[in-house]
Amino acid sequence: MFSDHRQRLVNELKEELEAAGNISSKALAAQIRDIGFSCSMCGKCCRRSCGDNRVLLTSSDIRSLQDSSLEDAVFPMLPDIPDVSLADTVNEYGHELEVDAQGRYHTFGWMLKRKANGNCSFIGEDGTNRCGIYDRRPMLCGTYPFYIEGGKLLTSECECLGKSISVEDSVLLAKDLLDRYVTELEDTVLLYEKFEGMGTSSQTPGGSKSLSGVDGIIFVVHDHNGNSEFAIKLNK
Ligand code: SF4
Ligand code: SF4
Repeated sequence: MFSDHRQRLVNELKEELEAAGNISSKALAAQIRDIGFSCSMCGKCCRRSCGDNRVLLTSSDIRSLQDSSLEDAVFPMLPDIPDVSLADTVNEYGHELEVDAQGRYHTFGWMLKRKANGNCSFIGEDGTNRCGIYDRRPMLCGTYPFYIEGGKLLTSECECLGKSISVEDSVLLAKDLLDRYVTELEDTVLLYEKFEGMGTSSQTPGGSKSLSGVDGIIFVVHDHNGNSEFAIKLNK
C-alpha cells in the first residue's frame, strides 16, 4: 500500500526534479570555476584506506555496465566497513540491514563491486591509479568531488579542490553533474513508487540463524525497477 508518508516524499522529490530543470548549467559551471578543481589522479577517492569509497550506481550506470558485459561489477549496496570481505561484511554489519523471515537481506540500490581490500575493482594497482573503465565510469566517479543536493552544489573531500579549471572542462562537468542529479532523483522517485515492503521478521543476522555454515547469501535489492533477488556464494 502506498502510504501518505511515501506519497509526500515522492511529491517532494518531484518538486525537486522540476526545480532541477531550472538550474542553469552555465551558472553551475561558473560556480565550479569559483571553487576550482583539477584531478591529480591520486586515486584516494577509489581506495578504501582513504575513507568511504563506495560508488552508488544510477540506473544509467547499471545499463552501461551491463551493456559492456560488466554486470559482475554491479553489487548490492552494503554498509561501509574497512574490511570488505563479504562474509565479514554481512556477519559483522548485517544488523544494519533488514532481514526477512526467509533470511534474505534487504538493501537499497547498487554499488560498484570492491576488491577484498576495499579498493574499487577497477583501480590500477601498478602505481598509475588509472581507472580500468574510464570511458564507462559511473556518474559519481565522473563528477567527483562535486555533487548536488537540494539544488545546491556541494563538494566531498579532495586535495585538488581549489585548483584552476578551464571553462571548457567546467561546462562539461556542470552538464554531467546535472545529469547525475536528475538521474538520481528520478531513480529515487521510482524506488519509492515501486517499493513493495520488506516482509521483515525479528530474525537477527548472526543471531538465532547464524550465517556460519551457510554457503550463500540472498539479498533483496530495492531499486528503481522494484525488488530483485541477488545471490552470492560465500568463499569458505
Ligand atoms: S578526484 Fe580528488 S581524490 Fe579523486 S583521484 Fe582526483 S584528486 Fe584524487
Ligand atoms: S570506477 Fe574508476 S574512477 Fe570510479 S572508483 Fe573505480 S577506479 Fe575510481
